[in-house]
Amino acid sequence: MKNKIFKLSLLTTILISSAFVYVQQVQTNLMTKESQQKITSNEALEKLKAGNERFVSGNELKHNHKEEVAQTANGQYPYAVILSCIDSRVSSEIIFDQNLGDVFNARIAGNIVNTDILGSMEFACKVAGAKLIVVVGHTKCGAIKGACDHVELGNLTHLVNEIKPAVDSVKNISGERNSKNDAFVRAVALKNIELTIKEIRLKSPILKELEDNGKIKIVGALYDVSTGKVNFNLN
Ligand SMILES: [Zn+2]
Repeated sequence: MKNKIFKLSLLTTILISSAFVYVQQVQTNLMTKESQQKITSNEALEKLKAGNERFVSGNELKHNHKEEVAQTANGQYPYAVILSCIDSRVSSEIIFDQNLGDVFNARIAGNIVNTDILGSMEFACKVAGAKLIVVVGHTKCGAIKGACDHVELGNLTHLVNEIKPAVDSVKNISGERNSKNDAFVRAVALKNIELTIKEIRLKSPILKELEDNGKIKIVGALYDVSTGKVNFNLN
C-alpha cells in the first residue's frame, strides 16, 4: 500500500513538473507584455537575425500554431514591424522564423510607404509598443523591375511611379537601365529601401521622434530569393 502511494505521488510529481516545463517553454517562446517592455531595439534586431539564420539553415522552431493561437488570444505584444513586398516568397513570419504575435507585418508591392502604412507603423510603435521597424526589399522584385521598365497598367502605374525616384537616383551602374540588367535592378532595390526609410522619417514626425529618443530603430534589409538570406549590411 505504502509502495503504491509512493508510486502514485511520484507519478503526480513527474506529471506536474513536466506540464510546468511545457508551459514554461511555450511562454518563453512567445512575446508577453513583460518581454516586449524589456526588449531593446538592438535585441529586437538580433532576434530577427537569429530567426533568419534558423530559416536559412533549416533549424526553424517547432511551431505549434494551435498552441500559439491559444497563447496569444488575449493580447499581442509584437517587438517589431516589418515592411516587405507582397512577393509570395517574402513572407516575414516565415523568412524570420517568427511565432504568432511576434511581429507586425505590412506588405505592399515594392515595399514603399503611403499614409496608411505610416499610420499602421505609428500604431505598431507608438500605441502597441514595437521597438523596431525593418524595411525589407528583395532581389528579383517584380515591382522594382516594373519601375525600371516604366510599366504602365491600371492602378499599378501609380504604385510604380512611387518607385521611380529610386530608379532615377541610381547613376553608378553601367549597362542598360532596365530590368534586363540584374545589377541595375539590385541597385534600384537597395536605393528604394534607403528612400523608403527617408520617407518614414520625413513624413512621420511620430516615428522620427521615437527614433530620435532612442525608443525605436529604423533599419533596412535585402532578402535574397535565391538563398533565403536577409542581408542587413546594405552599405
Ligand atoms: Zn517584390
